Amino acid sequence: MNQTRDSIKDIWGERTPYKGENYPVRIDERTIEEPDHWVQSACVLCSTGCGLDIGVKDGKIVGVRGRGVDISNYGRLGPKGLYGWIANNSPDRLTKPLVRKNGKLVEASWNEAMNLIVEQSKKIIDKQTGLGIGFYTSGQLFIEDYYTLAVIGKAGIGTPHMDGNTRLCTATAAAALKVSFGTDGQPGAYKDIDDTDCIFLVGHNIASQQTVLWMRILDRLAGPNPPKLIVMDPRKTATAEKADVHLDPLPGTNIPVLNGLLNLIIQAGDVNEEYINAHTVGFEELKKTVAQWTPEKVEEISGVSSEKLRMAAHILGKTPTLLSTALQGVYQSMKATAAAVQINNLHLIRGLIGKPGSGIFQMNGQPTSQNTRECGADGDLPGFRNWGNKEHINQLAKLWNVDPDIIPHWAPPTHAMEIWRYAEQGSIKMLWISGTNPAVSLPELSRIRKILEKEDLFVIVQDAFMTETAVYADVVLPAALWGEKTGTFTNITRTVHISHKAVEPPGEAKPDFDIFLDYAKRMGFCDKDGNPLIKWNTPEEAFEAWKECSRGRPCDYTGMSYAKLTGGSGIQWPCNEKHPDGAVHIYTDGMFNTAIEESESYGHDLITGAAHTEKDYKAIDPRGKAFIKPAEYIPPHETPDEEYSLWLTTGRLVYHFHTRTKTGRAKELYDAAPDSYVQVSEEDAAALGIAEGDMIEVASRRGSVTQPARIGGIKKGVVFIPFHYGYWDNPERSRAANELTITEWDAVSKQPHFKYAAVKLSKAKEGVLHKIGEALNMVNDQPQKMEV
Ligand code: SF4
Repeated sequence: MNQTRDSIKDIWGERTPYKGENYPVRIDERTIEEPDHWVQSACVLCSTGCGLDIGVKDGKIVGVRGRGVDISNYGRLGPKGLYGWIANNSPDRLTKPLVRKNGKLVEASWNEAMNLIVEQSKKIIDKQTGLGIGFYTSGQLFIEDYYTLAVIGKAGIGTPHMDGNTRLCTATAAAALKVSFGTDGQPGAYKDIDDTDCIFLVGHNIASQQTVLWMRILDRLAGPNPPKLIVMDPRKTATAEKADVHLDPLPGTNIPVLNGLLNLIIQAGDVNEEYINAHTVGFEELKKTVAQWTPEKVEEISGVSSEKLRMAAHILGKTPTLLSTALQGVYQSMKATAAAVQINNLHLIRGLIGKPGSGIFQMNGQPTSQNTRECGADGDLPGFRNWGNKEHINQLAKLWNVDPDIIPHWAPPTHAMEIWRYAEQGSIKMLWISGTNPAVSLPELSRIRKILEKEDLFVIVQDAFMTETAVYADVVLPAALWGEKTGTFTNITRTVHISHKAVEPPGEAKPDFDIFLDYAKRMGFCDKDGNPLIKWNTPEEAFEAWKECSRGRPCDYTGMSYAKLTGGSGIQWPCNEKHPDGAVHIYTDGMFNTAIEESESYGHDLITGAAHTEKDYKAIDPRGKAFIKPAEYIPPHETPDEEYSLWLTTGRLVYHFHTRTKTGRAKELYDAAPDSYVQVSEEDAAALGIAEGDMIEVASRRGSVTQPARIGGIKKGVVFIPFHYGYWDNPERSRAANELTITEWDAVSKQPHFKYAAVKLSKAKEGVLHKIGEALNMVNDQPQKMEV
């Protein structure tokens, strides 16, 4: 065994202080046996996208090591990256297709399972067109999988009902980028950390979520001329502990705080008028809107002290360079897009964008969610095209050689929350869920379970494990995991990595790409000339097809190839004739993608979400200038009252990813954080007579969970529950945070609100059981529990 450090105990490793060029390489490695060879890949356990090599011995993964040449991590890996691969070797991997017979899931051949899916698909399409079929995918597949799925859905079946769990994690990132800059695409680069004078982390506990990015920030903080750090988070996280200024707003009050900061910066005259005049529209309206947000008013609404707000505004107003990030504390909260846009506004009014040290990361949570959006496997069209722009539809129709009318573009694409509602109401009859676990990750789980149980809904689940969702499926398709298939994916900083196949998948499990391709063939999808719609047979051919789709669009991949991505670092898009080695920054000339021909959307009203039309947009087309859009504060839809007197917020832990289907199967990660909990402030715990470790029932109007109490580190009046924990390894206790959350979503991005709900706490009674336990027992011949 070779282990460069114990990353469970020493999460971020030793410091390598620096500033500017040449971030020192530090190779992190963990292998349990000496590999006989190494295979190039990148980590798929968060959106950082760290380059790594997979160590293989006798056809089995035995470890990983960071890639020193990779610009994303320079060799570093965090605990999830160093341990998460163990899930590939888990004894409870799905190895055979399952179909439901007489109420039980039983083993079947691929032929039987796929024929059943095809038979159902054809029956539904004959009766009610493609509108009867929905796809709910992931932020964890590869470009090749997503693009194939997108073409099947949009040009084969012609359904607008396609989305991913990216709706839960990054829909607001995409929406905010479109609102301000015309299209999706992150303006920042990790390199900005090397040069910046100030880092502003908004609703982003980076120390837990992106451990390797946090290492880079810690290394800057330990080096010469460290940047100032401002953190906005209601909890005193490991990130917040390092802050020069920690702003701790109450749930749902991001807009007052951000408006207050903008107001102070404008009042102090710390704006770049030249940049504003040359490259933006809308500044005067912003100035008017934020004028009412005095520090005192911000304090009254958000609980953030006026003194701290002034300190933060002074730093943000004077800093010569600025790197800002936002994540779920913004995206899953009230008026998410409007709040995320205020961060873009901050950079625009200061002219701090598109240059070294100044960037914005409207972060992604998952490793490949950028690609779900780029490739059109969610509600967007491939290549950041606008569903309302006929020319964009014609481009896709020409590329795929299909009639433009089959591509759904008569109305906005159906977002995930609506897909589930249509399934609930009965108009969607078949739901194909790939690489995600909505029975733990969606809000208001009792409702989701009822939908999955519906007799008239045919549910397909494509996954590597028998998840809490898979137990409700009519057909379960065993999928290969990372390391068992080849493909590419893109991290937050537009860096594309290739992940080569290192080992064979277990049993009869197949890559997602092969499953989608098989479905397309069996369905006989054709183009206008009667040739197969999907014209590629290998991941590399799919990548070449995707490159053509991206040609001339902001996310231009045409200068990349599998060969170019192999051997060195990941490459940042756009990569084309103009940028043969990729581009570190975009928007360097202050020209944005807002011209009507380019724009990915005609925009929305930030408060109501009402979509603007082509005619509306023509009247305001800024022809390459960025939009500065202000937003008024709207209070959350559910607030604490006499009965439910506390705010609930949910979030992540450093050792786990999503619903732990992978990280929960790595013994060391499991042991590091084996169970959920409810975090309560000292004041609230004292008032309620709660001691550390007491079992507490947390109830909202939608359900209840029972959690051990953890006391301290959180604002009075707010409680926190990590969202990772479901039932596959503990079916006996109701503990999934989403039993409590609310079915509400942001008006623009349609991202659900996981960051606020009103709850009450009481000491738990004995015997709090959960119905999911019964569902798990229905699974035939499948391991019920993991062995750790
Ligand atoms: S920071 Fe993210 S991508 Fe990097 S090793 Fe950790 S989990 Fe993997």
